[in-house]
Amino acid sequence: MNLCVRHCSQITRFNGKIAVITGSTQGIGLATARRFAQEGAKVIICSRKQQNVDDALKTLNNEGLDVTGLVCHVAKEDERRNLIYEAEKFGGIDILVQNAGANPKPGPIIDCSESMWNKIMDTNLKASFFLAKESLPLIRKRGGGSIIFMSTIGAYVPRKKVGAAYSVSKTGLLMLTKAMAGEFAEYNIRVNSVAPGLIETNFAQILLEDSEKKYEEILLNRSGKPESVAGVITFLASQDAEYITGENIVIAGGMTSRL
Ligand code: NAP
Repeated sequence: MNLCVRHCSQITRFNGKIAVITGSTQGIGLATARRFAQEGAKVIICSRKQQNVDDALKTLNNEGLDVTGLVCHVAKEDERRNLIYEAEKFGGIDILVQNAGANPKPGPIIDCSESMWNKIMDTNLKASFFLAKESLPLIRKRGGGSIIFMSTIGAYVPRKKVGAAYSVSKTGLLMLTKAMAGEFAEYNIRVNSVAPGLIETNFAQILLEDSEKKYEEILLNRSGKPESVAGVITFLASQDAEYITGENIVIAGGMTSRL
């Protein structure tokens, strides 16, 4: 039996809540969707490919979790509209986790083409802003809620191997967190972000394969699990974090982020 199912079966922090998680058919998004559902939320997952949505739904529903899902490429306005429509059918949104992200060709920023730059900014930064904006009426309908953006440790310190254009987009999310937290507070909506380090997913495969140096900047000398991030995201969405807004939490095993 999955560890969390055993320990969390009595935890119902999110009973009656509706959580929308983008980019949630594998990796950090899937772990986050699972955690919210295990703790009582009705969860809506999405990603770009129908097959991935079907597979993830099958897995989560077989675990007895209350999860539904649909295709939504976050950079496509019409697909975001479908996602909002789906959430509306359930009565609104309490928690929005903007996890989907793109980093098509990691490498030096000088090699970043205009089309690559656009793809990175459209998916990571522009879509995060617009989906938050489009979700606002649904979150207000619920009397408030929580928005969480997915940044990265690279938002603080760019690394050539990861790609600085990706870092630029994710640093933008830190300011978006601050800006939206300021404007949404009056609606009882908290806005925060998380900045993971090296997490064991397909997305980080290129870094995980670097056997020589992969842990050299990590004080804990190991990579993190998707569940390490899911736990912090659910904390930020929970009542325990009711006095936290406009903040970013680094989840990187002690990698350098700031003073
Ligand atoms: P992952 O395992 O590759 O999973 C990515 C998920 O997002 C998949 O479900 C994918 O499914 C979906 N997706 C990709 N592009 C999408 C789009 N445009 N619209 C909607 N869904 C999309 O990646 P991950 O490591 O969990 O990464 C998730 C987030 O964490 C990203 O924003 C990434 O920048 C951030 N992050 C990751 C790490 C790390 O070390 N892994 C560190 C820092 C930050 P489809 O292919 O079906 O779309």
